[in-house]
Amino acid sequence: MQVDLNIKKLADWNMPLDSKLLIAGPCSVESEEQVLQTAIGLKNHPVHILRGGIWKPRTRPGQFQGIGVKGLKWLKRAGKAINVPVAVEVASPEHVEACLKNGIDFIWIGARTTVNPFSVQALADALKGIDIPVMVKNPINPDLELWIGALERLNQAGITKLAAIHRGFSSYRKTAYRNVPNWAIPLELKRRFPTLPLICDPSHICGTTDLLQAVSQEAMDLLYNGLMIEVHLNPAVALSDALQQITPEQYGTLIKSLKPKKPSTANQELYRQIIYLRKEIDEVDGQIIEMLGKRMEISRTLGIVKNKDAIAVYQPDRWSEIVKSRIEAGIRKNLSEEFIDQIYRLIHEESVRHQEMAQQDS
Ligand code: PEP
Ligand code: MN
Repeated sequence: MQVDLNIKKLADWNMPLDSKLLIAGPCSVESEEQVLQTAIGLKNHPVHILRGGIWKPRTRPGQFQGIGVKGLKWLKRAGKAINVPVAVEVASPEHVEACLKNGIDFIWIGARTTVNPFSVQALADALKGIDIPVMVKNPINPDLELWIGALERLNQAGITKLAAIHRGFSSYRKTAYRNVPNWAIPLELKRRFPTLPLICDPSHICGTTDLLQAVSQEAMDLLYNGLMIEVHLNPAVALSDALQQITPEQYGTLIKSLKPKKPSTANQELYRQIIYLRKEIDEVDGQIIEMLGKRMEISRTLGIVKNKDAIAVYQPDRWSEIVKSRIEAGIRKNLSEEFIDQIYRLIHEESVRHQEMAQQDS
């Protein structure tokens, strides 16, 4: 079912934007001083919206759960001090009411709320007839329809300044990311709703600061409309998400390092597809190299085991069996015999080298 969203393009949000929408600020508002000093630190860097979490029901109870309503005033004051509007996460109609009462300019719906249509509908009902921009984070599970459903519920309530925030998806598997990006999902969202502003939240995708620059640049390459980045005056002592927050100075350096990309074709849709497919190829190449490394590691162990009883490294029968079975498997995947034969000759040579190396070292 394809329903169109009635939304305002980012250019019509009355924001002083020259290119990307930049949202920065602490994961959580912790104290008046912390949010004010963080804002002041951001003053000389490009920021259009100051963010801050007020209600923070964490994954497990017993930790800091957010400063609560009093933090709204602190955030608003901090925003005023540097002359930028402020954004807060809401999860219930009470949160919406408190935000409106305190002049909060933007709100966003968190990943843990987007998954729940009951909550999203309650928020949409609370926002009926109110002209406030709403940003919707992707649900924690990789479900595009649920994300679209949340956007539709808000749109049906009359919210036209709508944006989507891509913050990655939960995965049971341990990965380099806190939340795996699954770039294909936000890109499909953008394909279906080309005017919907798409913002990347590299902080929650990465979970640490190491990959922040790379993920932010990926978002630029994929022509995202903006970034939301967690910035804390002193990340080491942050009460939530300490590992992924950066200082205002680091934020300045990160933003300066980003290279804006122009589509190489006038067709943005085509450009995104090309970039996305290239990224998929990069990912697969990374896996190929990872697996080759793993294969050679096994070879080294095999070399050591063979050495225990002076067994020859090269076993002709085993080698012919490998070539035969790999060629058969390759043909089933549309790979030519010639290609598999050549690749396996190289792999075998490298494998023998590793076995011998391991035997010399042992
Ligand atoms: C946040 O922005 O601090 C937050 C809780 O994000 P998410 O909903 O993406 O987990
Ligand atoms: Mn956070």
